Amino acid sequence: MTDSVRLSKLSVNVFTAPGKAMVGERPKPFGEALGFDPITSTLIFGENDAVLVDAMTTVAEAEALAAWIALHNRNLETIYITHAHFDHFYGLSILLDRFPDARAIATPETLKAMRMSFTPPVERLARRLFPGQVATKLVAPEPYEHDTFTLEGHELRIIKQGRTDSPDSTSLYVPSIGLIVAGDVVYNQCRMYVGETTPESRKNWIADLDGLAALNPSIVVAGHKKPGVPDSPEAIQETKRYLEDFDRTQKVASSDQDLFDRMTALYPDWVANQSWLMFGFPSG
Ligand SMILES: [Zn+2]
Repeated sequence: MTDSVRLSKLSVNVFTAPGKAMVGERPKPFGEALGFDPITSTLIFGENDAVLVDAMTTVAEAEALAAWIALHNRNLETIYITHAHFDHFYGLSILLDRFPDARAIATPETLKAMRMSFTPPVERLARRLFPGQVATKLVAPEPYEHDTFTLEGHELRIIKQGRTDSPDSTSLYVPSIGLIVAGDVVYNQCRMYVGETTPESRKNWIADLDGLAALNPSIVVAGHKKPGVPDSPEAIQETKRYLEDFDRTQKVASSDQDLFDRMTALYPDWVANQSWLMFGFPSG
């Protein structure tokens, strides 16, 4: 064996920002007061360099994330954004100010779906829901045309998922350590955003989950998780079970409230019992 093929093992660390309040009316008059579910960013690092996956929503979250990254004392090479929902990249400008040598990337498909988040109505909405908390300057990642990139010689593989909780979502797979950073394809004991789904799109989502399970990962990081729970591969099956339960329950529920109450009863320990996650994001 020569030195050139001896790679140092990669490590992973997950940053979870707790749930936060949003200003406005709930779309349905039940569930918790309007708020946003806890959200994760993931740092994958080797001996010298690091890759960050997803960039948080608010200035406070992105600044805390940046300080936490700095504690790792690694060179941040790449920031990979998994999908087009603004909760995962409105904090990007804060991170790029702090780590100007990092390149921020996403797939061209994700970039296209992301455009909506830079339109005045969506930006206005975000600033209304999180007053004084969204960065003044919002930036997009650059389109990345390939399916893989590397960190200290290890392959990081982009898995394109199609529509899950958002259009053209992706996960990032690191075969050398059996890691999947799933984006919002996987949720971990946190109520799922099914508000933009249909029975058809949920079938696609379930097929994507089966695809992730087939990789037989040992660590799975969900885009949204109950703070403190392990990043266990079981979250893949739990996410699938929630989608199947939602499908079945939607068919028999007598009203929106009945559907919401039945799902609440089925998953009593999951966090973020928000009606918007089930019935659509608040529009004002
Ligand atoms: Zn999300």
